[in-house]
Amino acid sequence: MQAGVIAVQGDVSEHAAAIERAAAAHGETADVVEIRQSGIVPECDVLLMPGGESTAISRLLQSEGIAPEIQAHVDAGKPVLATCAGLIVAAEDAKDERVQNLDLIDVTVDRNAFGRQKDSFEAPLDVKGLDEPFPAVFIRAPLIDEVGEDVEVLATWEGDPVAVKQGPVVGTSFHPELTSDSRIHDLAFFDTVEALQ
Ligand code: GLN
Repeated sequence: MQAGVIAVQGDVSEHAAAIERAAAAHGETADVVEIRQSGIVPECDVLLMPGGESTAISRLLQSEGIAPEIQAHVDAGKPVLATCAGLIVAAEDAKDERVQNLDLIDVTVDRNAFGRQKDSFEAPLDVKGLDEPFPAVFIRAPLIDEVGEDVEVLATWEGDPVAVKQGPVVGTSFHPELTSDSRIHDLAFFDTVEALQ
């Protein structure tokens, strides 16, 4: 499996390791490639959009010509996992003119609301499809404030959605790569990849 991690900015290496762990759990190998320029996304089976700083990620995805390639990847039904700042960029609207939203998933987010109130914390999270709670790390996390009718909410925290799925796209407000638990990568990539075969 060829897995691309968007690497223009943000926490890239942790995601690469988490994808490799998830692949190993399925008896597969993932070749992870870091994406900083156009031309690589079309070679990838799955894509990961990491956390970091959404305004910087957005700007670089546009200037490097990577943004339309990500949209074409989703249009082809291929999986994407977007976490934290990645989710902010993947959303339909982040209500911040510095972020050019890719509209990969029909949710709107508030970049700062959750973060300012709660800053950073870790919590055990019940996630649809997982038997045991997931140790979710929230770091200046975006609040998902509106969810379209085709979006499935996979997890909520204090009543707000924090993990969502629409078609091949999974988005989380938290950072699933920061623990050794790779079940979210597994759920995002292997369930969908197997369904496509
Ligand atoms: N608050 C950050 C942003 O707006 C996201 C934080 C993160 O990815 N940990 O981009």
